Amino acid sequence: AGIPWERIEAIRNALKGWTALHFIGGEFRPSESGEVFPTLDPSTNEVLSHAARGGEREVDRAAKAALEAFQRWSRTPARERKRYLLRIAELLEKHADELAVVEALDAGQVLRIVKAQVARSAENFAFYAEYAEHAMEDRTFPVDRDWLYYALRVPAGPVGIITPWNAPLMLSTWRIAPALAAGDTVVLKPAEWSPLTASKLAEIVQEADLPPGVFNLVQGFGEEAGAALVAHPLVPLITLTGETETGKIVMQNAARHLKRLSLELGGKSPALVFADADLERALDAVVFQIYSFNGERCTASSRLLVEKGIFEDFVARVAERAKAIRVGHPLDPDTEVGPLIHPEHLERVLGYVRAGLEEGARLLVGGKRAKASFRGEDLSPGNYLEPTLFVGENRMRIAQEEIFGPVLVAIPFQDEEEALRLANDTRYGLAAYVFTKDLERAHRLALELEAGLIYLNSHNVRHLPTPFGGVKGSGERREGGLYAFEFYTDLKAVGLPL
Ligand code: NAD
Repeated sequence: AGIPWERIEAIRNALKGWTALHFIGGEFRPSESGEVFPTLDPSTNEVLSHAARGGEREVDRAAKAALEAFQRWSRTPARERKRYLLRIAELLEKHADELAVVEALDAGQVLRIVKAQVARSAENFAFYAEYAEHAMEDRTFPVDRDWLYYALRVPAGPVGIITPWNAPLMLSTWRIAPALAAGDTVVLKPAEWSPLTASKLAEIVQEADLPPGVFNLVQGFGEEAGAALVAHPLVPLITLTGETETGKIVMQNAARHLKRLSLELGGKSPALVFADADLERALDAVVFQIYSFNGERCTASSRLLVEKGIFEDFVARVAERAKAIRVGHPLDPDTEVGPLIHPEHLERVLGYVRAGLEEGARLLVGGKRAKASFRGEDLSPGNYLEPTLFVGENRMRIAQEEIFGPVLVAIPFQDEEEALRLANDTRYGLAAYVFTKDLERAHRLALELEAGLIYLNSHNVRHLPTPFGGVKGSGERREGGLYAFEFYTDLKAVGLPL
């Protein structure tokens, strides 16, 4: 990733005595109780750093600060908000190396990929800076003989943003940027397994001189700080990116306050490979979609559906590629797959490997903890897993439940009809990928597949103006482009007799 080793070491050493604090009303604060919790380095499972353990009291302070700041921020001209967003984007770029190293160590993601994610985080702010002046655009109604009607969009209030551990910085900025662009203020609650870059982002917000209270951060656990945020009466909007089961709990708790929700949840996305496809391209995409990012990608194509005539041959090629993947330390430039986030998560993923075997799936590659070393350091205590490939059936747990690791299950299909039936036979509906040279079939499937994101002959390439989100158990609402403002703003109708 082009960062000198001495610099990487210095960043890593600085984390040792550091505590990722809350950021409330423009100030860094410990918890009132003084409690902290450790965050582990997944490549060794040693303690990397600590974060403050927030709860009801910290959330209450943050919500009050966010509401107070909302009175001014929501009335700040859009062009001024735009300037702040651009400044944050610039500072994210300026501090990109530090952010990338911290996140690679905290989340176990490969450094060069995290570096690209930090660039995406800056882009999220730059993108929504441009949209700030358009956030309130809406349809004006035609003049009706003696009445004029029009619609107004206004900032909706403080937003609670709850994020997962897999891509913490990128996913939080993807919510924070449109919220700030719309004139909303924010209380962020990052995931407890990778809390560090959220506090680094708060440092950037402070450096950008964002008015106090516009961005607040409460560190802590989901059941404590997260639940307190969902329950806080001063925060009318909650956006959660996380597991489907968490989505259900958050929806129930938010219902008591009738809060507006945006839910980006889990996935079990299919890749459909037809015999007429460009198989080289399909192979690249399929391998990338499940084995890059440690398999901890919400849009991963974790079910590989392949037409019968080419099944054995195509799956054998996937197996060959999976075997060649280099598992290692996130900072090692040769690494393709890093350690899973946490020993508990590794156990859960290994549990799925056992479940696959018990249900009679054929294990072609992997399935075991992987060995890794880096710069003479023995990494055996780390959460390394061999990229894993099964041949199975769609009814099996490994094909029905989100594993969120580098585990792929391949399933044969007879024809388009069966492919579609298998693809839609899931509780999830985040993404679907179709590989075929038959254009009519591709468009037909795009219409019929139950997913919020469809890619034809490609892996997932995010384009920020397009809507992002899932159907069924993968969530509801869409973020991205102007679609995001349907969540972050309120719509009013104004009528005026002429
Ligand atoms: P998770 O659901 O365990 O946690 C997500 C966040 O919710 C964390 O900050 C957690 O502390 C918080 N939380 C947990 N319980 C809570 C509660 N009762 N009240 C309020 N907050 C609570 O998810 P995870 O394990 O951190 O992340 C992995 C999941 O995220 C996967 O399912 C993945 O598919 C999903 N994900 C989805 C997208 C998307 O855009 N659809 C993107 C990335 C990840």
